[in-house]
Parts: sequence; C-alpha cells; structure tokens
Amino acid sequence: MATVEYDGIGKSFGPVKVMENISFTIDTQKFVVLLGPSGCGKTTLLRMTAGLETISAGEIRMAGERVNEIHPRDRDIAMVFQTYALYPTMTVFDNIAFSLQVRKVAPEEIKRQVEEAAEILNLTDYLKRYPKALSGGQRQRVAMGRALVRHPKVFLFDEPLSNLDAKLRGQMRFEIRRIHDRLNTTTIYVTHDQIEAMTMADEIVVMNGGRIEQIGTPEEIYDRPANCFVADFIGSPSINLLKGIVERQDGRAVMRVGESGLHLPENTSAREGQSLVYGMRPLDIEVGDSGEASGTVEFVENTGAETHLHINFDGHDIRAVAQGRLRVKTGDRLNFTINPEKVHLFDQTSEKRID
Ligand code: ATP
Repeated sequence: MATVEYDGIGKSFGPVKVMENISFTIDTQKFVVLLGPSGCGKTTLLRMTAGLETISAGEIRMAGERVNEIHPRDRDIAMVFQTYALYPTMTVFDNIAFSLQVRKVAPEEIKRQVEEAAEILNLTDYLKRYPKALSGGQRQRVAMGRALVRHPKVFLFDEPLSNLDAKLRGQMRFEIRRIHDRLNTTTIYVTHDQIEAMTMADEIVVMNGGRIEQIGTPEEIYDRPANCFVADFIGSPSINLLKGIVERQDGRAVMRVGESGLHLPENTSAREGQSLVYGMRPLDIEVGDSGEASGTVEFVENTGAETHLHINFDGHDIRAVAQGRLRVKTGDRLNFTINPEKVHLFDQTSEKRID
C-alpha cells in the first residue's frame, strides 16, 4: 500500500503564503497528475512530497505514516526531473546502476536489475553508450531507469517531457503510462500540459493560485468542469465562455446574446434574471446551413482533418471546430447550432458550475 495523503498542507516562503489548506488523498497504484498554470504551486507540492521543501502547515502521510520530518533519502520515493542530470562520464549502465552501487548491492544483482530496467525502457542496446551519444528521449529514459531500479513506493515526475519535441513527447507519454501499468507504482506527475494530464492520468488535480480547483478523472474534468477556470484550462481549442442573463423565450429558458437566444439545457436550475457564463466547447458547435444563431467568419484554419473557425457572433469571438474541410472563407455568413445538452453553465458571480 502506498497511498499519499495531503492533510491541510500550507506553504510560505518567508512572509509570502503560496499555498493554503490543500487536502486530498492519492490511492495506492494510481497515476495522479498535478495540473495547473505556471506558479500555481504544483512543483512546490511535489517537492514537499519528496522532502526537498519544508512543509509550513499540515501533514503529508505516505502509506499512513507522517513523513514531514523524514529525510528525502528515507521516504522511499524516486523523482524524475525535467533536466535529466545524467553523469556524462558514466555509461548508461553505470548511470542506471549508480544508486545500487552506492548501496553496495551485489554486482550480479545490479546487473540483473539494470538489465530488467533497460528491457522495460527499450534501452538494452544502449547500455554501453555515454549520455552524449543519446537522443533527448533516450536520455530521459535513462533518467527513468535510475528511478526504476530503486523500486520506490512512489514515483514523482516533475515536467519530465518539457525538453522533448512534440513527437517524442507523445511517444514518452505512452511509455511512461505503459511502465506504470506494468509496475503499478503510485505516481504523482506534475505538468502544465493538459494533453499530458488528459492522456496519462487516472485522476487530475487541477491547481490554481495555490488552491485546488477540481479533482476528478480526465472525463469528469472535461465533461463537468467545476468552474470557469477549469472549463477554460482544459480543452483545446479552449471553450467559448459568453456572459449573459437568463430570459424566457417561447416558454424556454435562453441566454440572450444580441438578437439570438441561446438555449439552456431542458432541466436547468438557472433562474430567470440570473447572470450566467455560457460555455460551449468548439467541437460541440455544429456549423450548417440552418442554425439558431449566425455570425461572420473572421478566420479559417485548416489542420488537415478539421476546420477551425473564428466566428464573430454579435461582437464575440466564437471558436468552432468542424470535421473535414469546410468551404468557407473570411467574411462569409455562417449559421450554427449549439446542442443545449452539451452546454456548460456557470454562475457569473461565483464562477461555479450550476446543474
Ligand atoms: P511552474 O510550472 O512555473 O514550475 P508551479 O506551478 O510548479 O509553476 P511553483 O514552482 O510551485 O509553481 O511555485 C508556486 C509559487 O511559489 C510561485 O508563486 C513561486 O514564485 C513561489 N516560489 C516557489 N519557490 C520559491 C522560493 N524558493 N522562494 C520564494 N517563492 C517561491
């Protein structure tokens, strides 16, 4: 069992409070991603977990035991950083073996463990090479090999893929997740990249300004964002958020934008007169000949498989994504429909989800 519990965690650097009252639990064997914009505190929380940063308030427990005062070396964790920090004068084998050699593990056992890690990481053919003769992705794998041979209770990753190009990042996402599924070691992974979070996590902890905005599976976070911040942070291209007031039109609740009344979901709890934020994901906007709303095309981007549109809708910039290649150009008038059941509604004052 290697649960990680955060109980009322706070952090101050001198007089500056950067985190307050963070409480949540990571179940054993889970892959949890701490996600948030730069400066939200995710690295600080990870470093407190590792013991590299003191804890100003609250308690961190691993496998039920308080670790606040335990030295990083004795926490039974292994951390992989953004910079791989390999020893340049050592071969891949020795880089991976280093921590075992320090612990005076028997040479044949070291060989067995390094070879096993190399096999998991597809590094078997590279054990005699030096870091300078490796690609960025291979170096990152060596860094992971060093973590694997320690068989820790918990893996901690701090933006491990930031230095890789987009294609390699995609491959390594898959490989890190595959390793997790093979070893089932509890993993905490820090990133500001929502794609990494969405594709790798069992659970995402969305952070902002030293607070937790939402915890949930990738599907929960995408399908039911708890507030405007999460809705805006998750999803690419990002969600359209329009402000307005609830009215009744032909017996149905709508949010008025200029001439158009945007339909609210059938069973909404939004009250007439309530100030709302109306969220529509670009993929949920259906462009066609007929539609309840219309606007002028301001910009068209063809990505190959999809057409990304910016539509001027009564002075608001609405992004829509259509499958395939639409024959539209800047200045065209376009109709669109929004399925009201796919709309995300937030109260304008609290910015919290309603319904
Ligand atoms: P990034 O993705 O940019 O690394 P982050 O979400 O990981 O951001 P942290 O590095 O945890 O954010 O920083 C959280 C806050 O704490 C920031 O406001 C940062 O300026 C502050 N901070 C971090 N380390 C220190 C420090 N050693 N001294 C003072 N302030 C710090």
